[in-house]
Amino acid sequence: MSKATKLIHSIPVDPLTGSISVPIYQTSTFVQDAPGLHKGYDYARSNNPTRAVLENVIAALEEGAAGYAFASGLAAIDAVVKLLQSGDEILAVDDIYGGAFRLFTHIYRKFGITVNYVDTTEAANVAASITPNTKLVWLETPTNPTLKISDIKAIAAIAHAHNALLCVDNTFASPALQQPILLGADIVVHSATKYLGGHSDLIAGLVVTKTKELGDEIKFIQNASGAILAPHDSWLVIRGIETLHLRVAEHSKNALIVARFLQKHPAVNEVYYPGLPNHTNHDIAVKQQSAGGGVVSFTLKEDTAQAAKTVVCSTELFKLAESLGGVKSLLCHPATMTHKSIPAVKRIASGVADSLIRLSVGLEDVADLIYDIDQALNNISTIKDSKTQYATLN
Ligand SMILES: *Cc1c(COP(=O)(O)O)cnc(C)c1O
Repeated sequence: MSKATKLIHSIPVDPLTGSISVPIYQTSTFVQDAPGLHKGYDYARSNNPTRAVLENVIAALEEGAAGYAFASGLAAIDAVVKLLQSGDEILAVDDIYGGAFRLFTHIYRKFGITVNYVDTTEAANVAASITPNTKLVWLETPTNPTLKISDIKAIAAIAHAHNALLCVDNTFASPALQQPILLGADIVVHSATKYLGGHSDLIAGLVVTKTKELGDEIKFIQNASGAILAPHDSWLVIRGIETLHLRVAEHSKNALIVARFLQKHPAVNEVYYPGLPNHTNHDIAVKQQSAGGGVVSFTLKEDTAQAAKTVVCSTELFKLAESLGGVKSLLCHPATMTHKSIPAVKRIASGVADSLIRLSVGLEDVADLIYDIDQALNNISTIKDSKTQYATLN
């Protein structure tokens, strides 16, 4: 069965009524025939039939044993960290999502969990930095926002040789492009707020585990901590997933065209996109993901926050907002928005330059998107001046 067919039919028809759309069970509790005698559902924090459909769908899409839905991507990440104990160490990708950095550093350090950030784009760096205390290796690939690629298969082998689990934040690629469990990961997390939801209309997170045993641990944490996804939001994510393969293919197609355009623009310094042949780890990207995805980042020749601000305030179709993965194109300035909680020195060292701009390329006509970025880039004063000069010379 093809991936598209499998995806669409992983969402079941309601067995009770035949409803082709998954029913929203908006309830807090379930009536029991006798104490403990019920239809598999007792209390809606522990279990909800609408959420259960989403959890089964994401487990199927990621080829895992079990899936769990949380109130946000960060709540999903939080649940995974709760597998650890005081004294354990996380070895994490250095170009990590700002919210994950904040959670690891400012919350879990208080509980004796330490985090070592390394450049995981070279698997050898992971081998060199892993210690007997490392219980969890944390990857994002591609990373947010500089689209760094790490070799999931190679790093899974290193983690397992040291009895550590490998968790991959698969938010940027989505299971439509990349399935980390098939490459050796033990856990996959998602901010379903992005491509899985796909319409910029909800906040949600998902965890998928390779084994049932690990799934049971996450289930225990999900119920004990309680950061579950509500039934209506579960339904919205299910509805988003129905078109995931179409959307992500189109996002990727548009993004590649935009990336190629940016490479040739005189205002642009560097373009970060795994689908470009000159991307540092393009060969690994091609091996583990079927397209480049919808996010493109770039820096400006004039490497200042002011120049970046000019650009992000001059676009009309690309709306200035945090987040990504929706139908409408968005752009943001990580240094002052998504990554402002990371100290400047650390931020710049991990590649988030002052002028870095991140695009979430949407589903508009790509010619319109290019026109929009072009006119915004031409608003940078040095570019404006050189154009005026050019005009006067001629
Ligand atoms: C947005 C994001 C998160 C956090 O997800 P929320 O749904 O905003 O809590 C985690 N990882 C990555 C890569 C993200 O882009």
